[in-house]
Amino acid sequence: MIIKNVNIITKCEILNNYCIEIKDDIITNIAKDIDADNYIDGFGRFLSPGFVDIHIHGGGGYDFLDEGDETYQKITYAHMIHGTTSMVPTLVASSIGDLKKAIGRYKNAKNYTCNLLGLHLEGPYLNKEQCGAINIDCLHDPNIEEAKELIELANGAITRITLAPELANSNELIKLLRENNITISIGHSNATLDIVKNAYNNGANLITHFYSACSSITRRNGYRVLGIIEAGYLIDDLDIEIIADGSHLPIDLLKYIYKFKNHEHISLITDAMRAAGTNLKETYLGKMGEGTECVIEDGVAKLKDRSAFAGSIATCDQLVKTMLKAGVDLNEAINMVTINPIKALGSKFKKGEIKVGNDADIVLFDENIDISLVIINGEIVYKK
Ligand SMILES: [Zn+2]
Repeated sequence: MIIKNVNIITKCEILNNYCIEIKDDIITNIAKDIDADNYIDGFGRFLSPGFVDIHIHGGGGYDFLDEGDETYQKITYAHMIHGTTSMVPTLVASSIGDLKKAIGRYKNAKNYTCNLLGLHLEGPYLNKEQCGAINIDCLHDPNIEEAKELIELANGAITRITLAPELANSNELIKLLRENNITISIGHSNATLDIVKNAYNNGANLITHFYSACSSITRRNGYRVLGIIEAGYLIDDLDIEIIADGSHLPIDLLKYIYKFKNHEHISLITDAMRAAGTNLKETYLGKMGEGTECVIEDGVAKLKDRSAFAGSIATCDQLVKTMLKAGVDLNEAINMVTINPIKALGSKFKKGEIKVGNDADIVLFDENIDISLVIINGEIVYKK
């Protein structure tokens, strides 16, 4: 497959009026011109790597905790048409029994559209004081035997875990996760800067939805103690992910983050719940019928009493649009939703960057980030 007349967004620059060649599922050539009779005309649109969402709970009316064969198909399709080609299905803290069942369903999932890059367990080892919309009864201190059981059951299918490093037994848990090559993310936590530094030194490399359910400066007997937010700015190599839907973090805060954090360490996530890509007005966060009730208004999910947000209804194209509004240039905004999240996962995948030898996960869009073509593993899966 050859695509001509596109502006290719690579990691460092935009190659105007270029061509790309794909053989099987791999990018094999990027050139000013490629000789071919049959090709796809990009009509001067942008061509970028497919978007990578490393924190996503659902969409299209479904949540990854739902039973039923259609769950993976519905969620991946709902996000794929908005440019997502890879995702890390995220399971919000639930009973251990439900998590085990959901891990089993991940392993048996069929007929899904996007690449699945392994599961993200958002809990259960989180701080109840920073539970956000998560059911507090499902949260507890790390239990190493239980964690081992989950990891063994998943058999390599857990890519990432969010934990609160101030809880008892966290050091042992972090060691276990590192040994199993699982990305360690700090979130739903009241950790102080010292605790974050310790976790970072032991292998944690990411902060889960920066600003949401994260500690900041507190005063203890008059002394100011720094928290996760300050750690995110002070530790250069510590990656942060942000829900760039324009609601969880207002545009001015996105500008602030962009000003003070190296853009190469910022990843955009949807943290989308089941209502993403639907017109639902009332729904649940978590398992259908059993999760936390929420309402959808002003383009975001809220707890029924409106005391807190309960996840976003964003898709990745919207995240890019929001970052452009915040003054980020297109090249950097695209990196934040492609190569940066792949790096945050430890660069285990040949994705997130348009270069020869990488997987052919590609999206085409215009200057309004309106997606017109999606290619996953060399196959056209969506054409507007
Ligand atoms: Zn989440």
